[in-house]
Amino acid sequence: EIRSVRKRAVFVYTKKDALSQQQTMNIISALRASIRNPEQVLVHYQPMYDVQTGRIVSAEALMRINDEHLGFLNPSQFIFLAEQTGLIVHLTQILLAKVCTLIRQNLAKNALEYISVNLSGEDFTSRQMGQTLLSIIQQENIPSRKIGFEITESVVLQSYDMVADVMLELSLKDIKFALDDFGTGYSNLQALMDLPYAYVKFDKSVIQGAMSNPTMLTLLSDMLHKLGKVLIAEGVETEQQLEMIKKIGIERVQGYYYSKPLEKEAFLELVG
Ligand code: C2E
Ligand code: MG
Ligand code: MG
Ligand code: MG
Repeated sequence: EIRSVRKRAVFVYTKKDALSQQQTMNIISALRASIRNPEQVLVHYQPMYDVQTGRIVSAEALMRINDEHLGFLNPSQFIFLAEQTGLIVHLTQILLAKVCTLIRQNLAKNALEYISVNLSGEDFTSRQMGQTLLSIIQQENIPSRKIGFEITESVVLQSYDMVADVMLELSLKDIKFALDDFGTGYSNLQALMDLPYAYVKFDKSVIQGAMSNPTMLTLLSDMLHKLGKVLIAEGVETEQQLEMIKKIGIERVQGYYYSKPLEKEAFLELVG
């Protein structure tokens, strides 16, 4: 398995991007180290708020790596390498286990609807993966409805049949799905209608763009509401954006205006 990871990593080195070969190797080493020592995988939590009540209804779990040599790494520095090497599969499982533990230990009686975990296309290695994720949740003995998964549209369209199967399987256990970063890529209306997404998250860029012309966001919101989706606006930073979202009827917000992603302790203080 390590060999196949190495082989794929070679492909990474030939890619022309901002990272030097050495930096790339260092980050991949840090990812391997954090899989051996899961305490180096940190989870930050960003609350999502109900626009009408101003209450926290859920939260998104966001990964960071704390490496002994490289220090603190943000997703923009390591997620694409974790995906290209296949290491993301292990990191996703570590993160999910941590989220489940937090729910069991600290949030068992909390009104929070769910905490969502991001899935990459590379997480969908086989149809088995649904069972793997479920077994992590069941090991922690929490109700599976307390977990959500966020998937971007490009992932869905890349491996439609497998994603559809896994989504259906997990939805039957009351696990929630959100379509992430909506409005940044191709939108496939059929996929939106056929797949059991409960939530659609508008990307930050869509929210920002709508400030000068809200027509597109208004039309999309009306359509998605007709399909029964609950809408979440990402990247809301200003009062004006919040007002626009309220007017359009988007139900939930996640953004710096309310809260940045928080370390576990600060998050628990906020929701506890
Ligand atoms: P995402 O899933 O769309 O997550 C939202 C990102 O937007 C987060 O960045 C969050 O901190 C940022 N954000 C939220 N509100 C605001 C705002 O008001 N203004 C601005 N400027 N940014 C805001 P983060 O944590 O750096 O994560 C970036 C991306 O990395 C995520 O985008 C997701 O695609 C990926 N990612 C993060 N954690 C994981 C993970 O555990 N697994 C996988 N596969 N991907 C992850
Ligand atoms: Mg997300
Ligand atoms: Mg997003
Ligand atoms: Mg994103």
